[in-house]
Amino acid sequence: MELLESPAAMSEWAAREKATGKTIGFVPTMGALHRGHEALILRATELSDSVVVSIFVNRLQFNVASDYDKYPRPIEQDLEICQRLGVAAVYAPTNDSMYPDDFDTVVSPGELAKPMEGSARPGHFIGMATVVAKLFNATKADVAIFGEKDYQQLAIVRSMVTDLNMGIEIVGYPTVRESDGLALSSRNQRLAPNHRLAAGVIPTALQAAKERFERGERDSRILIEMVNTIICREDSARIDYVEIADVRSLQSVVDIKQECVLAVAVFFGDVRLIDNIVLKP
Ligand code: AMP
Repeated sequence: MELLESPAAMSEWAAREKATGKTIGFVPTMGALHRGHEALILRATELSDSVVVSIFVNRLQFNVASDYDKYPRPIEQDLEICQRLGVAAVYAPTNDSMYPDDFDTVVSPGELAKPMEGSARPGHFIGMATVVAKLFNATKADVAIFGEKDYQQLAIVRSMVTDLNMGIEIVGYPTVRESDGLALSSRNQRLAPNHRLAAGVIPTALQAAKERFERGERDSRILIEMVNTIICREDSARIDYVEIADVRSLQSVVDIKQECVLAVAVFFGDVRLIDNIVLKP
């Protein structure tokens, strides 16, 4: 397995790989790899000849400095996981190689980036779209796999690839969960044990709303209220937002007639978790 630490090294490796006729499957991550990431990597293996996994904690997409500083970075463990899964190359660029002093260009997504995570985390999606564009260019990927856990991110990446004619196939992957339903996340390991237990309320609330929706409730205000009430049963939970939005436009929906995403962001202590579930009429 190759370890590549700059955009130039990554591009050279990718060009050599492509010259032999191989297709490249790409899984972008911020490391602290878990079974969710592993599932994406295995999907990439099915869809391409050579898999590249990037591990880069992208400062540009963090709007809270302490969240960036405390983000887990177990690089040795991550490399072992990639090795075990047969990854061809790990792309772990240094900060300086990604953002030299004269770095001056960003990718600014539009309407899709305004609601939910966009309004809760100003600048987050500019940072995300910019780094994803840079990673796509360096890895020369033919196909890239993204988790549906970051629903808005996936929508923005799809839109960016179309709008900027990037010619990369984007594949979504369903959220991998713990036995109590909590979505796997690198941030889960930062939860205090009592908060980890309490966080199980997130999937419980989403599931309860989905069941009520399936029994015929179409008023999103009632479903949102229900999610709020269930999550608030845990004293340690602090809700950032609960939203129901159209799956394509990501605009809020009141009377649900179309496929929608129910998305939440909840704090436990200083750890912010997101999750979502799709509601199909
Ligand atoms: P991250 O390292 O958190 O930036 O995530 C890297 C990729 O893994 C993103 O496409 C995420 O959506 C995806 N991902 C993170 N957690 C999960 C999960 N529990 N199930 C599936 N995909 C995930």
